Amino acid sequence: MADEPATARALLARAAGVVVFTGAGVSAESGVPTFRGPGGLWKAFRPEQLATPEAFARDPRLVWEWYGWRRDALAACRPNLAHVAIGRFLLTRAGVTLVTQNVDDLHERGALEAATGLAREGRLPAAGAAGDAASRPAPERGGGAAPLLDDEQPRAANAAAAARAAPIRLHGSIFHARCTRCGARTEHRAAVDASSLATLPRCGACGGLLRPDVVWFGEVLPEGALETAFAAAAAAEVCLVVGTAGAVHPAAALVDETRGGGGRVVVVDPGETAYDDVADVRLWGAAGEVLPGLLG
Ligand code: NAD
Ligand code: ZN
Repeated sequence: MADEPATARALLARAAGVVVFTGAGVSAESGVPTFRGPGGLWKAFRPEQLATPEAFARDPRLVWEWYGWRRDALAACRPNLAHVAIGRFLLTRAGVTLVTQNVDDLHERGALEAATGLAREGRLPAAGAAGDAASRPAPERGGGAAPLLDDEQPRAANAAAAARAAPIRLHGSIFHARCTRCGARTEHRAAVDASSLATLPRCGACGGLLRPDVVWFGEVLPEGALETAFAAAAAAEVCLVVGTAGAVHPAAALVDETRGGGGRVVVVDPGETAYDDVADVRLWGAAGEVLPGLLG
């Protein structure tokens, strides 16, 4: 019988371009509930009843209360071995693009852990160095910024490196908000007071009601994100699919782009997925158990 993990490792090792495509399953071992699995219910509401523009128009207080609860739940979660392995892969390999359907921030936090570990090993690539992650634009420091204190230096360098491993987000971010009046987008991490309509988050620019900057059922994906992700997938020699059932479209069609371009598909998931018939290599297992060996 073919040694599937070895086959997958060889495919990944020699591929010039790799797209890593993740879903809720990559965060499952961190304790983040998936929508469909156990623990996916909140106050007897199904996510499908809350994650819609209609639900927000009907009862923005209830929807913000749910997002506040999900943010609190995430604050108690830590990135798992899969997030860290993916972060390390992005930081040390050329030609890797991460595309996620998740709205949590665990890929970013996993990349920070990976960057910290690499820095400790003296292997953190400097900004602008060869390697795909480094070729992405790094966030600029303002010209007038105060000089960093000695002990802040490594942390800032690690954070800058981790930022280069940020995912393309197909479904937005739970820690960003968007104005329902003027459309302005902001990072939004402050605690949400959903006790009344009057206390819900408001836009700093125009005073309009803010909404979570996530893609709800029936909404279109963020401009550019899908195009960028699909272009990377079409050019990739391998699409590594991790923890997604493949039921949410159009994101799920990313895999077809790689196949259409003649690339291979590797699927890591302990349950059945829509990709099982097309996978060139199928690894049945939890992401945190499989990925460190696969990508290390
Ligand atoms: P899904 O719930 O449809 O599928 C999850 C997949 O993860 C399943 O195939 C399951 O077998 C697999 N899985 C479970 N445990 C795993 C593990 N330890 N390792 C690897 N795989 C594991 O999720 P989806 O395909 O991402 O689609 C659901 C939608 O819900 C997405 O659009 C996403 O935005 C949203 N969502 C996001 C989060 C998050 O941000 N963490 C959580 C729930 C839902
Ligand atoms: Zn506004």
